[in-house]
Amino acid sequence: MIRALLDALKPTARHSLPQSMALPSRVPQVANSAGGYVWAIDAFARLERFLILGSEGGSYYASPKALTAESCTSALEALSADGPRAVALVVAVSTSGRAPRNDAAILCLAIALKMGDGPTRDAAVAAVPRICRTGAHLFAFAAAVDSLGGWGRATRRAFSQWYCRGDLATLALQAIKYPQREGWSHRDLPLLINQWANVVRWEMRPLRLDLQGRPAGGGGPAGLERLAAAAALSRAGSLDEAVALIRAHDLPRECVPTALLSQPALWAALLEAGAGMPLTALLRNLAKMTVVGLLSPGSPAAAQVCARLMDPAALRRARLHPLTVLVALNTYRRGEGLRGKLRWEPVPEIVQALDKAFILAFDAIPATGLRWKLAVDVSGSMAWSEIAGMTGITPRVGAAAMAMATLRSERDAQVVAFSDRLVPVSIGRQRSLDEVIDRFSQIPMGATDCAAPIVQAIDRREAVDCFVVYTDSETWFGGEHPAAALWRYRQQSGIDAKLVVVGMVSNGFSIADPTDPGMLDVVGFDTQAPALIADFARGPARRA
Ligand code: CA
Repeated sequence: MIRALLDALKPTARHSLPQSMALPSRVPQVANSAGGYVWAIDAFARLERFLILGSEGGSYYASPKALTAESCTSALEALSADGPRAVALVVAVSTSGRAPRNDAAILCLAIALKMGDGPTRDAAVAAVPRICRTGAHLFAFAAAVDSLGGWGRATRRAFSQWYCRGDLATLALQAIKYPQREGWSHRDLPLLINQWANVVRWEMRPLRLDLQGRPAGGGGPAGLERLAAAAALSRAGSLDEAVALIRAHDLPRECVPTALLSQPALWAALLEAGAGMPLTALLRNLAKMTVVGLLSPGSPAAAQVCARLMDPAALRRARLHPLTVLVALNTYRRGEGLRGKLRWEPVPEIVQALDKAFILAFDAIPATGLRWKLAVDVSGSMAWSEIAGMTGITPRVGAAAMAMATLRSERDAQVVAFSDRLVPVSIGRQRSLDEVIDRFSQIPMGATDCAAPIVQAIDRREAVDCFVVYTDSETWFGGEHPAAALWRYRQQSGIDAKLVVVGMVSNGFSIADPTDPGMLDVVGFDTQAPALIADFARGPARRA
């Protein structure tokens, strides 16, 4: 009897345990949403996934609302385990630009402020100006704090800090670009922050005067002059007047009257002015600038746009996120807007520049010279939701693009796709992202077996130093656990191969065994992910 039980725990026996049964492990496995057994990641790792991948797009197994509630619960878990550490993680992810969106960071900050203990609240108050960098962020924070229950002293302290941190010119630019969001305006906030009300009223005064049609008081500090110019631009009657104001005061598109937005000369002026067209605005307006005729093949404006998109230092300064670039590429290459209203002829060199910008927007990816097998999960659940709520970017399209980032920097790497079996795709480093997106969008859906790419390597006697599996870890179909398949691969090949799991959905699961130092979890679309994967792969060989 004992012998039979012991036999069941032998390394040879664990290979025959299907994914629908838990693998014996020092860290017990848990059931995932598909009924397979995997490992749970800890509250801080879960918080990191939420901060980077968001929950706006939901998942195959959970609506956006349910996924948000689930993510907030695990954020609370991290906050009550160690509040200041959790707030530090939120600040680190937000300020380093590792996440495509700041919304999850803002939500976690509000939770820390309203539901944390004393030290957590203090940390949250101090973090407000670092996380809420724009007026839009501040209003999103106001909406979150409001829905979590009101305006206590700590909350008022947090908001007054925001208004008093920077110079007037910076504040003025924020007031111009984001006069209101989420039902909040700068005028609502001062009422709640009594002690600073006078300061803020004074700052807003010129804008208010202009909105009431009276002349703005000139000759004040630079910030106020700019506010007055912004108000003048919003009333500009002619193209020449608008162009002159943009050039003189470096004003953004938000202040331009709609009627003038069909003029190429207007867009040319915005493109020349620094603040008028930061990189994120540039991406958002590529289609519009093509429609009005400013951007065309071989045009000077197209060359200028391409140069900006391929400038690594500028991308870094703007915290331009690879996912934001991928969304822009995916929209622009199609030549028509989502609602089908706008149509344009995509300029080929701009599509190519976006392709390069996507890779450049990640932290520098070192080449390791190792042998790689990059496996993209293309099962049904990976084709369902949208990463960080980004239009058109399903987890599997995102996963394929992530795989391209590593593929392009390595000489010896192959990309495969799998569901419950290997799905033929031929993807080489020369392929454009445009082609890769098309190819991966068309693959039919299937069940999930995350062990399939490793089992294939065993069967074909492939030499692989590092397997990378891009997945939601909702695996259930296979007759062998992915971790067990890796152990079998190591035994049979004699290669101390590693496994990196790139989590593409903000859930709490992983196929990586936390007790095996040769397996690692990273968050998909973390700007640091490809560099982390390379560093781990070339690190010391560590057999479990
Ligand atoms: Ca699946």
